[in-house]
Amino acid sequence: MTIQKNISLKQFNTFRVEAFAKYFCEVNNLSELKSLITTDHFENEQKLILGGGSNILFTKDFNGIVIKNCIGGIEVISESKDNVLLEVGAGHDWDELVEYTVNNGFYGLENLSLIPGTVGASPIQNIGAYGAEVKDVIESVKGLSLESFEQNEFSNSECNFGYRDSIFKTELKNKFIVTSVVFSLSKNGKVNTNYKAIENYISEKKLSKVTPSEVRSAVIAIRRSKLPDPREIGNAGSFFKNPVISNNKYEEIKSNYSDLNGYQVDDSSVKIYAGWLIDKCGLKGKRVNDVGVYEKQALVIVNYGNSTGGEILEFSDLIISNVYNKFNIELVKEVNII
Ligand SMILES: Cc1cc2nc3c(=O)[nH]c(=O)nc-3n(C[C@H](O)[C@H](O)[C@H](O)COP(=O)(O)OP(=O)(O)OC[C@H]3O[C@@H](n4cnc5c(N)ncnc54)[C@H](O)[C@@H]3O)c2cc1C
Repeated sequence: MTIQKNISLKQFNTFRVEAFAKYFCEVNNLSELKSLITTDHFENEQKLILGGGSNILFTKDFNGIVIKNCIGGIEVISESKDNVLLEVGAGHDWDELVEYTVNNGFYGLENLSLIPGTVGASPIQNIGAYGAEVKDVIESVKGLSLESFEQNEFSNSECNFGYRDSIFKTELKNKFIVTSVVFSLSKNGKVNTNYKAIENYISEKKLSKVTPSEVRSAVIAIRRSKLPDPREIGNAGSFFKNPVISNNKYEEIKSNYSDLNGYQVDDSSVKIYAGWLIDKCGLKGKRVNDVGVYEKQALVIVNYGNSTGGEILEFSDLIISNVYNKFNIELVKEVNII
């Protein structure tokens, strides 16, 4: 384990913005992590846990230690005729895990294919896509408290999962390091093809029996057609959460815009698409210097080259105020601002 000083974080965030960490260290196992955080020198330093940096925007240098979680490994901890429990190291690449499960015929992660980042970050914002959320297959989350330095395990219900939310993003923000996640996957489950674009892909291919592997192929094809590849254009996926509004508010907007879509989250509220709101403000494809709204998906802010985190943040605030002025709806950022 090597602790480096004054390290550029540009290659460690998918927005590709420049920022420096006072200290930087990669940890490969639990004992390295424990010894790092309990040393006198680092006990009082500010700490930032970094996975793949695909949901982070650095707006300034980090005056503390960035701990890059590289704890890997997939272990089958129990298996029956119908189910398998997998414990996966927090530093494991998320999509490699999805590929592994699909190749082994396990159901549950296929709709979450091609999401960048690490396994340890997946419960933090309860990643979701194409009609699935990771909370539906998480058995428990294991990690280390940054306050007591003790190991803890949170059952699914203790994680307080919500839409792009969990206890790790709220009460335990910066207080807990996820070291592994236990997934409960079905061996003879049902695929979820309710999402319109997946349904279309399946019907075009005229598939009779749909397997997790086919759903994965569908999701990969759809994502590649709509989302920018961070290896080519800096971005962090959806910059904002989709807002939930009242039924009345929904009807009010719908009376002016017949193409408004949403889905009922409970009796009194509807979730609508933040990308649609941004598009209706005429901002899709808008560019200011090197920062812009992606032309194929208005929910994504992109760094065309040399934007700073500060410029991206300022641009996102411009989007928020445009949407607020037009619709009286306040968008909330999904990306973690540092
Ligand atoms: C092109 C693109 C598409 C995307 N599509 C989706 C999508 O469809 N659905 C979706 O939900 N997200 C999506 N994202 C966002 C992102 O990929 C996910 O949020 C992912 O889980 C972030 O993983 P990461 O390892 O990169 O986390 P980081 O960006 O490194 O970290 C994110 C947050 O989690 C914390 N964290 C990370 N690891 C740990 C740990 N081990 N313990 C404690 N805290 C930790 C960090 O401190 C930070 O606050 C997309 C991003 C991109 C670039």
